[in-house]
Amino acid sequence: MPDPTLMVVKFGGSCLETPENVRVAAEKIIAEQKKGRKIVVVVSALKGVTDQLLQTALAASGGRISKRQLDEILSMGERTSQRIFTGILHSMGVKAEGLDPANPNLWPIYTNSEHGNAEVDLEQTCKAVREKVLPLLEKGFIVVVPGFIGLSRGGAITTLGRGGSDITAVVLGRCLDAGEVVFVKDVGGVLSADPKLVSSPSRVEALDVEEMFSLSSAGAKVLHPKSLKYKTSSMTLRVVGMDEPDLSGGTIIK
Ligand code: ASP
Ligand code: MG
Repeated sequence: MPDPTLMVVKFGGSCLETPENVRVAAEKIIAEQKKGRKIVVVVSALKGVTDQLLQTALAASGGRISKRQLDEILSMGERTSQRIFTGILHSMGVKAEGLDPANPNLWPIYTNSEHGNAEVDLEQTCKAVREKVLPLLEKGFIVVVPGFIGLSRGGAITTLGRGGSDITAVVLGRCLDAGEVVFVKDVGGVLSADPKLVSSPSRVEALDVEEMFSLSSAGAKVLHPKSLKYKTSSMTLRVVGMDEPDLSGGTIIK
């Protein structure tokens, strides 16, 4: 049985652009905690940071950089976001623990060693999640996890592929048997058309996984298609806008 009080909330980079954004994101989390929920927050890199790191590393090295080194560099986007988010929660007087692969005692996400496109080792990850993350939640901590990154068996930092924070969020939801995984975006919910192309697209209330999958694969930036394979049937995925009053609305993925 999934735990209905337990939720994973993922903030995309577009929600983490200005200091005001980041503060609003933290307030949304605290509001959920006050409703009695146990929360794992997954953060992406601040908007544009991954691209900047990637372009700088590639251009400066003339492309002569190993995939392993590139993963180390790219991981810094999410690792920095984690520290910023955890710091803000602390400044608001909330108990929060930020996780990082440099502290393997608390790190839960394990992968193979395919740098740049690593696969999550679900068995090892779920075991680590239960042993390391669950006790923190039970002690009342909000747990903040950098998305997109993992640790290989050999102890190297890996990345899950561009947009991979979605994968981190669904994997954590699965291992924790969370009732819900909520994806917070700058634009609320899933729209019936690209608002840049259509003047007033309508909000889609619910999608099933197949529809979601074809949308994601067709390039509509909803969720990383690979994240859907970790969804269990009892888990609700929801896409909510930053502009909505709380994390309860948006589009449900069934
Ligand atoms: N920051 C990474 C990217 O831009 C991962 C993510 O945003 O999910 O691809
Ligand atoms: Mg990003």
